[in-house]
Amino acid sequence: MRDWKAIRARYEPVIGLEVHAQLKTATKIFCACPNRFGDEPNTHVCPVCLGLPGSLPVLSRQAVSLAMRAALATHCTIQTTSIFARKNYFYPDLPKGYQISQYERPLATEGYVEIPANEGFRRIRVQRIHIEEDAGKLLHEGFAWSNDKSGIDFNRTGVPLIEIVTAPDIRTSEEAHEYLAALRATLVYAEVSDGNMEEGSLRCDANVSVRRSGEAALGTRTEIKNLNSIRNVARAIEHEISRQVALIESGGDVVQETRLWNADRGETVSMRSKEEAHDYRYFPEPDLPPLLVDPEWIESARRSLPELPSDRRRRFIEHYGIPAYDAGVLTLSREVADYFEEAARASGNPKAASNWVMTDVLRKLKEDTRPLSACPVSPGRLTEMICLIDDGVISGKIAKDVFEKMWSTGAPAGMIVECEELTQVTDASAIEAVIAEIVGAHADQVAVYRNGKKAALGWFVGQVMRKTQGKANPRLVNELLRKALDG
Ligand code: ADP
Ligand code: MG
Ligand code: ZN
Repeated sequence: MRDWKAIRARYEPVIGLEVHAQLKTATKIFCACPNRFGDEPNTHVCPVCLGLPGSLPVLSRQAVSLAMRAALATHCTIQTTSIFARKNYFYPDLPKGYQISQYERPLATEGYVEIPANEGFRRIRVQRIHIEEDAGKLLHEGFAWSNDKSGIDFNRTGVPLIEIVTAPDIRTSEEAHEYLAALRATLVYAEVSDGNMEEGSLRCDANVSVRRSGEAALGTRTEIKNLNSIRNVARAIEHEISRQVALIESGGDVVQETRLWNADRGETVSMRSKEEAHDYRYFPEPDLPPLLVDPEWIESARRSLPELPSDRRRRFIEHYGIPAYDAGVLTLSREVADYFEEAARASGNPKAASNWVMTDVLRKLKEDTRPLSACPVSPGRLTEMICLIDDGVISGKIAKDVFEKMWSTGAPAGMIVECEELTQVTDASAIEAVIAEIVGAHADQVAVYRNGKKAALGWFVGQVMRKTQGKANPRLVNELLRKALDG
């Protein structure tokens, strides 16, 4: 049998991602219909977004502002002149028979997104960002009539999108995952998009090719569509890499085509041969003038941007001294990063704040339906608890229970500790009394310990903690036990 892993290792995958992000505007891009997800089908439509004859598009200023924020957040150069074009094709979800997009002159070019690599960062280049309108949505299932026909919902028609295209810089499915997580965090921080892949506000197509390691020329690529979660993007890429390597190894050639990801079957299937740009008969949109943005507009967009996740990650590592991994997790969401930072500052113990947020707060947040801002344990409340531990009032172990109770009752840590008498026992004589009792009752274990099995100490610690309901100060217990047993 041939060693598949060894064969796979002789090839280098090359991946480029095209991401469509819906912009969080109040209205659609060329008309006043609301840009809102989840309403009754065909309730947000007008002659413009339905493409009725005689209607004319008017570009939304807010859409351009948000697209510029995305461009700046990904370190792109904004072109002061960009041009809308018609991309012509027929599909039932496209009432005009063309999509207004940008083609030869996109809004922004040549930026990058940083992904975590080792202890630092690696740049994935962004080739271009252009503005376009979304199409409608075909409804194939879930209706009484779904067996014999499909419906069309035009609420999404004309919703503003940006398309963000990377250079073929990505080398593994993990890097694709990192890129999407970083890009999504960036767009959400910048308040450009809500970044929800399941609801379709972020959509990703993956271009995948493989080449023999060391070869300079790129292999023939396929483009995979229908990727509705970051996890599925990574799975689809893995599958596609294996498929291409197997094909080449068996003497075949990769065909440039568009493939569809089938998440249930865990594989990609051929959809159509890859269309070429000339198939779309692009031409400049005659109903819209060139888009001109002046430097002042760009500057005001730049000034309005918040600190971005990669910068924040860097600052968390340097300023709070927390590990790169922790900083990455904490900065994925702006809300979590704000929460951590408040607790880190107030408690003066960033490492403890980071541990509590990374484990307990994030775990609770997963079970809870509320947003972090509405949760019962505020950064201030967490700080109070961290201080109780640091001051030796409660042990770290007891603190876990206190945290649970804070979350379920909303009460402050101090009150829970007081009502439930959880205060740590740091009184040496009280602990010594317990130790004396246990040592007296277990001569056998004492003998084991004295015969050199020092690990038996753990057994004694366990007994003392049990007798004191976990309230004895562990450091003190260890110290006093040694004294009692060794002496
Ligand atoms: P199109 O407009 O036909 O989709 P582009 O040239 O704009 O093609 O490229 C689209 C995406 O495909 C980009 O993200 C690019 O990095 C990526 N790409 C181009 N060539 C390859 C290749 N050989 N292997 C993998 N990805 C590629
Ligand atoms: Mg493409
Ligand atoms: Zn409309």
